[in-house]
Amino acid sequence: MSVKTPITVARGDGIGPEIMDATLKILDAAGAQLDIEEIEIGKAVYERGVKNGIEESSWESLQRTKVFLKAPITTPQGGGFKSLNVTIRKSLGLFANVRPCVAYAPYVETDHSDMDLVIIRENEEDLYGGIEYRQSQDVMASLKLISRPGTERIVRYAFEYARANGRKKVTCMTKDNIMKLSDGLFHKVFDEIGQEYPDIEQDHMIIDIGTAKVAAHPGMFDVVVLPNLYGDIVSDVAAEVTGSVGLGGSSNVGVDFAMFEAVHGSAPDIAGKGLANPSGLLLGAVMMLVHIGQGEVAGKVHNAWLKTIEDGYHTGEIYREGISKVRVGTDDFCKAVIERLGQKPETLPIADYSGTPAGGMKLPPLKEYPPVERKRIGVDIGLNWGVCNAEMLAEKVQECVTDNLKLQMISNRGTKVWPNGRPETFCADNWRLRFKADDDEEITTSQVIALMDRMNKADLNFTKSVMLYLYDGEPGFTVAQGE
Ligand code: NAD
Repeated sequence: MSVKTPITVARGDGIGPEIMDATLKILDAAGAQLDIEEIEIGKAVYERGVKNGIEESSWESLQRTKVFLKAPITTPQGGGFKSLNVTIRKSLGLFANVRPCVAYAPYVETDHSDMDLVIIRENEEDLYGGIEYRQSQDVMASLKLISRPGTERIVRYAFEYARANGRKKVTCMTKDNIMKLSDGLFHKVFDEIGQEYPDIEQDHMIIDIGTAKVAAHPGMFDVVVLPNLYGDIVSDVAAEVTGSVGLGGSSNVGVDFAMFEAVHGSAPDIAGKGLANPSGLLLGAVMMLVHIGQGEVAGKVHNAWLKTIEDGYHTGEIYREGISKVRVGTDDFCKAVIERLGQKPETLPIADYSGTPAGGMKLPPLKEYPPVERKRIGVDIGLNWGVCNAEMLAEKVQECVTDNLKLQMISNRGTKVWPNGRPETFCADNWRLRFKADDDEEITTSQVIALMDRMNKADLNFTKSVMLYLYDGEPGFTVAQGE
């Protein structure tokens, strides 16, 4: 008798309980050795007033098992509720979200029969820090954070994933033509780490054209690695292009923990009707079986599922006259998969996990970099000023400027409006003033504080200040549009 692997299971909301029931029946029939601990998450927990949708006692189960099979949940809108998915990913350090997107032509209708790509999305950083400020009456700001270690980890994961899964190419997508520092770092680290993987083809695309290509020519791609927000969007585009969001499984992996789920949500429109396609969660569970070292059972489940799709047993959202054979609900689909356990697909590629290592990817330690030399050369000060007139503002600010910290530039919503601004530029009520010494001379914090004190006394109400540094002689800040 083999040892059972403890896992935590949550049945979730909407169609969650139906598709989880089907998934667990198939795993059981296939001989998966699982010791299941169930926890409750989502709607019912939110309704008990727990703001992040998960009770403290449920964390204990996750701490114990370190493996989570999760059905979708319904996230309440507004009301101060926090997204449970984001909470779990961040709390358990699940830095990589892996979403294979595969076409099953000719059995599932799609315009792109050659599609077989894997999206690897960074899961913890970027705009998902949720660090936002109201800067003035009219302006809101959101802070995008990209770190070198966070990027190195996800990029290396993508290359290691490619190697371990016989993939040939890794494509990185960013918007580094606009976000030169944050997305620029992601791209730079991709190029640096990529040099250690000369056996893997690699390229970079700007995210807008990259997304368009995923939608129109997905066959061009193999593994795609992206920062968090772009990854969120591109993975849904890719899942939809395969034919249905109902078909996509996904894993969220970290160093110690892993969570497996469907790509789609709780589908409240079809909940309780027995119509839901359990395939997304089942394919997530296949990834889980590989992770916990039950690769043989994973292959058995995956191949039975492929054969079921080939045999035309299709749930409503993928059922097409002339292609499908039997329109099934969740239960009959589940029965059809169980009947095919031990069989293999005839034309779709056979799944084989015999060589895939358990326990997820073991990444080497992060690279060490020599410390950089930092020189403070100025400060950006943000302030509110309701009059759309940069000249007037500059005049008032100039009265506060002494010694070597000079007003160099004023921008509004990122566009330079002083000196020599264009009269056509629209100005909102929050401004950024850049003060620097001549010739990048070093300045002191005391000089900055003295400047802010004089501005304060002149009734110039600043909302924030950011020091400007050179790092090994390279500016740690960007120039304004038009500067
Ligand atoms: P959704 O993915 O739940 O549904 C989108 C459409 O796809 C619907 O028409 C639905 O009927 C259909 N669909 C989805 N899964 C299907 C399946 N397995 N079989 C057949 N059809 C399926 O997206 P939504 O409507 O935007 O979101 C509903 C809820 O799910 C929201 O509360 C959202 O916050 C939540 N959500 C949760 C997760 C998660 O828990 N991981 C992910 C996405 C959305």
